[in-house]
Amino acid sequence: MAEVKARNPVEPEFHQAVFEVAESLSLVLERHPEFRKAKLLERIIEPERVVMFRVAWQDDGGELHVNRGFRIQMNSAIGPYKGGLRFHPTVNLGVLKFLAFEQVFKNALTTLPMGGGKGGADFDPKGKSDAEVMRFCQAFMCELFRHIGPDTDVPAGDIGVGAREIGYLFGMYKRLRNEFTGVMTGKGLTWGGSVIRPEATGYGAVYFAAEMLKTRKQELKGKTCLVSGSGNVAQYTVDKLISLGARAVTLSDSSGYIYDEAGIDREKLGFVMDLKNNRRGRISEYAEKFSGAVYTPLDPTADHNPLWNHPAECAFPSATQNEINERDATNMLRNKVFVVSEGANMPTTIGGIEQFLDAGILFGPGKAANAGGVATSGLEMAQNSMRISWTREEVDARLFNIMKTIHEVCQNTAEKYGTPGNYVNGANIAGFLKVANAMMDQGVV
Ligand code: NDP
Repeated sequence: MAEVKARNPVEPEFHQAVFEVAESLSLVLERHPEFRKAKLLERIIEPERVVMFRVAWQDDGGELHVNRGFRIQMNSAIGPYKGGLRFHPTVNLGVLKFLAFEQVFKNALTTLPMGGGKGGADFDPKGKSDAEVMRFCQAFMCELFRHIGPDTDVPAGDIGVGAREIGYLFGMYKRLRNEFTGVMTGKGLTWGGSVIRPEATGYGAVYFAAEMLKTRKQELKGKTCLVSGSGNVAQYTVDKLISLGARAVTLSDSSGYIYDEAGIDREKLGFVMDLKNNRRGRISEYAEKFSGAVYTPLDPTADHNPLWNHPAECAFPSATQNEINERDATNMLRNKVFVVSEGANMPTTIGGIEQFLDAGILFGPGKAANAGGVATSGLEMAQNSMRISWTREEVDARLFNIMKTIHEVCQNTAEKYGTPGNYVNGANIAGFLKVANAMMDQGVV
């Protein structure tokens, strides 16, 4: 870790992601001295390629802006680089390296042939007109197109990059290359997209929670659930929870959160989807619209997030990294939360994870629990290559089976390495072994 910190200064999120994996991998390296000799850990934490570029664009008033764009091509041992693009003011090299690193293991777990990558820009789509977002996406793609391709690197969405942005990015790529290929996933249904892709991450996180619950002979029906975020992942998490008879009582955005004791039903979820996907408004409007719901603004100076301090059995963090700290974890355990399925990437701090593992609750780390999104992107790539479209039922069944398999693999691997019930070790070790074996086969590259 000292070496990681020295070589990658000022990248705390990357250090955190590596630390979490390295802890699990000590169990593997003990049994596989050949991996140590081949310096696999040292190689796997070094991106194969990092591209950083200037993105200059003009706003509606004619003023010029300069943002920084990135693509981290982390590991291609088992397939083309695959991972989302994030547009958010907090984006920097360290954040994207952590995401790309996690993506390598996650993609390996999906059972599909995908390497790991991640990219984005420190651009804030909030408050921008559609025309401004389009110009930004076009300027971004004017550089990115040189580095991606359907057999090289296939980006998707992430925070701040949804259907609208994917459309603008794909349109510019097609224009520059003069070819129609499956270079991005999350595309519209009439131009190569897959059904269930928008739903996949949220649905997958709920399927994973259901699988974890099965190990204790329980189900989601009747359970009270805390959900954070109100974007793509949060919306479809709530959607699936409603279908399975659970009661989701919270949602949030970067300004605050709502608590709705009565539960978020289909009508309320429809309101949130319109609010966030079409009107691009704030979650506070939910409490103005539905009596009984309480809105609490976020206090950035507070040492905990009150969203996580309500009685519930399950939690689905679906906003961003490090949104559950040690104090939040203590509150959750006190309130009897015993299932945490991470829809977001690395939403729990190291101290929070330690508490969950010590308490022996069902803790599904993001690498496993939110892998449904990229898995369905993999299914979109397969459909594009074959130039066919599967039905909703077919894709949902494949997604469900992939989540079930990931759960099984994590569970079995954790047990095999002497830590039964520890899905963190299970996910890290199973993901690592697949990539490590491929790297051993392919020599020193
Ligand atoms: P969206 O942009 O659709 O939604 C993100 C949500 O999180 C919004 O409600 C946003 O609020 C909130 N949020 C973002 N940053 C912060 C912050 N710093 N503090 C508090 N709230 C914040 O993104 P997604 O739903 O796609 O992604 C959510 C998480 O899931 C991310 O961690 C992402 O990496 C992960 N993920 C996404 C996948 C996908 O398929 N989309 C796949 C796997 C993981 P606001 O509206 O105010 O910005």
